[in-house]
Amino acid sequence: MNVLVLMEPGDPSRQALTLARKFGEPRSLQMQAVEPFAPDALAAALARAADKLDAAAVFAAGTDRGNEVMARLAARLDLPLAANCIAAAPGNPATVTRLRWGGSLLEEARLHSPRPLITVAPHTVPADGGPPPPEVSMPPPSDSDLVVSVSGHVQPTNGGVSLAAAKVIVSGGRGVGSKEGFAIIEDLADLLGAAVGCSRAVTSAGWRPHSDQVGQTGTKVSPEVYIACGISGATQHMAGLKGAKRIVAINSDPQAPLMLNADYTVTGDLKEIVPAIAAEIRKRR
Ligand SMILES: Cc1cc2nc3c(=O)[nH]c(=O)nc-3n(C[C@H](O)[C@H](O)[C@H](O)COP(=O)(O)OP(=O)(O)OC[C@H]3O[C@@H](n4cnc5c(N)ncnc54)[C@H](O)[C@@H]3O)c2cc1C
Repeated sequence: MNVLVLMEPGDPSRQALTLARKFGEPRSLQMQAVEPFAPDALAAALARAADKLDAAAVFAAGTDRGNEVMARLAARLDLPLAANCIAAAPGNPATVTRLRWGGSLLEEARLHSPRPLITVAPHTVPADGGPPPPEVSMPPPSDSDLVVSVSGHVQPTNGGVSLAAAKVIVSGGRGVGSKEGFAIIEDLADLLGAAVGCSRAVTSAGWRPHSDQVGQTGTKVSPEVYIACGISGATQHMAGLKGAKRIVAINSDPQAPLMLNADYTVTGDLKEIVPAIAAEIRKRR
């Protein structure tokens, strides 16, 4: 029995491949076969290849791009997609274990489908180091499948420090109050050589770009120190902080969940506390 795997560079695809082997003999379609990235073109190619191979299942890594292509494939085939799985077993129905709520919940589910479509949550399944699967060919995409494609890349304006790689992050929430209010957050971040982060309340208000958002639907961060200013600590925000070594919370509400989960807390108005910290750092330099 054949299974089809959408492969992209990196470990998450090799991990998806490991799980795919449980369903049959893997064949692969390379994501870079379509440059620039065009999710519909890849979904169309996967649909054609899956039919041709009579694939028992289709797998991809649960990356942003893997999930996007597989969601479009599911819509084309009118079949269910199980996204962000950490385990899967073939059968009728197939069974899967999925990460939900940013990893705070595991869901056991049965997948009633003639062709299970599954993405594998990155870094949850060890790769077996098996040989790369034979590749299927990719015919040139049609114009209609190229309607959605990457047209350019914009560098984040994060002072040159990437959020995902930052050792220190100064992050602001709704408590910062306004777009202009972030001047004190940026100032402290500059002094510490830190990246600026924020909560979704902030990106939803248009105060910062989505590339600054930390959390379940933003960036998952793993700094040495995360300084959260005026952020309540909703589950979806905390889901992005699991890798943070130390959390400092500044909040006027001592009972805010982030204050209860932080290593160090400062209770009070961030508009006084953040500039006071910055002034103290300047004084000591
Ligand atoms: C599907 C889904 C996905 C989501 N994904 C994300 C995500 O990726 N990231 C994310 O952040 N959220 C996410 N959210 C939203 C999340 O549920 C919260 O709504 C959001 O995190 C709240 O942002 P906040 O803490 O800035 O705002 P609030 O919850 O309003 O908290 C503001 C905090 O500021 C404090 N404060 C107010 N004024 C001051 C002051 N002057 N000085 C000090 N403290 C002050 C308050 O005491 C309060 O604790 C998601 C929600 C859903 C449903």
